[in-house]
Amino acid sequence: MDPSIKIILLGDMGVGKTSLIHSYVLQTFQEEYKTTIGADFLNKKITIDENQIDLQIWDTAGQERFQSLNHSYYRGSDCCALVFDVTNRESFQNVSRWKEDFLQHSEPEDSESFPFVVIANKIDLTEQRVITEEEIKNWRLKNSNIPTFETSAKNFSNLDDLFLELTKKGLKRQ
Ligand code: GDP
Ligand code: MG
Repeated sequence: MDPSIKIILLGDMGVGKTSLIHSYVLQTFQEEYKTTIGADFLNKKITIDENQIDLQIWDTAGQERFQSLNHSYYRGSDCCALVFDVTNRESFQNVSRWKEDFLQHSEPEDSESFPFVVIANKIDLTEQRVITEEEIKNWRLKNSNIPTFETSAKNFSNLDDLFLELTKKGLKRQ
């Protein structure tokens, strides 16, 4: 059987988690606001060095608003993407909270070295951007150099690179 990797996306409501998954897996982007995709996760097959890997990418159905995600959402994750919106300062400030929340609920044995990635989404909105690359760099320096990806679910920017990195990190951990 193909190895399977569970990736979860965490972050404030509205940062673009559902859109990132849709854009990457289904190659569609919708402008209108949607709170759920009606499924716990979407599957995508990805090939690395001629090996097929089965990605399970988990989405939330709006429960993140209350920071009360079900334990099953976190359980068994191989890596975790912390998403914020570059036009929303609060969502950036909450990245550390989501990281703590993940570690608290999933209690991985390797909590010191668990693979996280930070996603700075909506970079297509250059005029409205408030979080600078400099700020993100400073945050990284204080947070064990977690890799950061600047993405746009709208323009499909950097999505392949992002999910490839998440997959590799998840694989390395198994
Ligand atoms: P979620 O609550 O984190 O799942 O966020 P959604 O995926 O539902 O996105 C919230 C809103 O932001 C929707 O109106 C999306 O169309 C919009 N959105 C998501 N990603 C992007 C992006 O990269 N660029 C722009 N301009 N809008 C985005
Ligand atoms: Mg959503």
